[in-house]
Amino acid sequence: MRIGIDLGGTKIEGAALGSDGGFLDRRRIPTPAGDYDATVRAIRDLVLAIEAGLGERGSVGVGMPGTLSPATGLVKNANSTCLNGRPFDRDVAAALGREVRFANDANCFALSEATDGAARGAAVAFGVILGTGVGGGVAVGGRALVGANAIAGEWGHTPLPWPADDERPGALCFCGRRGCIETFLRGGALAAAAGVVDAAEVVPRAAAGDPAATAALARYEDRLARSLAVVIDLIDPEVIVVGGGVGQIDRLYADVPRLWGAYVFSDAVATRLVPPAWGDSSGVRGAAWLWERT
Ligand SMILES: [Zn+2]
Repeated sequence: MRIGIDLGGTKIEGAALGSDGGFLDRRRIPTPAGDYDATVRAIRDLVLAIEAGLGERGSVGVGMPGTLSPATGLVKNANSTCLNGRPFDRDVAAALGREVRFANDANCFALSEATDGAARGAAVAFGVILGTGVGGGVAVGGRALVGANAIAGEWGHTPLPWPADDERPGALCFCGRRGCIETFLRGGALAAAAGVVDAAEVVPRAAAGDPAATAALARYEDRLARSLAVVIDLIDPEVIVVGGGVGQIDRLYADVPRLWGAYVFSDAVATRLVPPAWGDSSGVRGAAWLWERT
């Protein structure tokens, strides 16, 4: 059995998968946000609770914000900033007394969808999470691409392409720079542009004829098209899978491919933009799949 842990900013999800990939157990607990030691303990307790319930020991994979720096062995780039600079892999492995595998959460998402989801069989796939933050991961031949700096696919902290004058310099990002793709494409940015609190309110308001929501959605789709055009130019994926809260907006899957042709350096664009087959469970499934099928 494979156990996956998806460490998010507000919740930690744990799941056990059987050898056929089916769920044996799924649990969610709140993240002890801002408390590193409590986060390590919570992950240990979640794994042990799953194993106690099933009466079986499993392999453990963890999907995390940010990544483990090959240069220092410590966490970098996590928007849950209490992880940064900490030996998270060693601490979790020590707490559980076994080897544990780790990957960036967007890499886990891409791995899940490439393993048995919407990007199954794709030679190259890009997984993007548009939620509280913006993350990206690349799957090649059904495996997550890590990269020399362990940042492959991290396009959220590159500048918004083809910015209009009113998009420069852009909002300040948690990474310390301005105008990152994340500051335009995170769910909160869409909500703020539409004048609402939650991005989930934007589509119903636009459907009801609210001009601010309609304009915000159209502008968001164009920004997403510009941002993904650069990904297509660089790695030319067959499939792009969109997770996170914004990925639940159905119209993106028709509208954005209509827009990205103006930006991609190609006569036609065969890349498909699709929702995840496993919804918000893809993160935890991809973490479990860090122990790959043999
Ligand atoms: Zn940034």
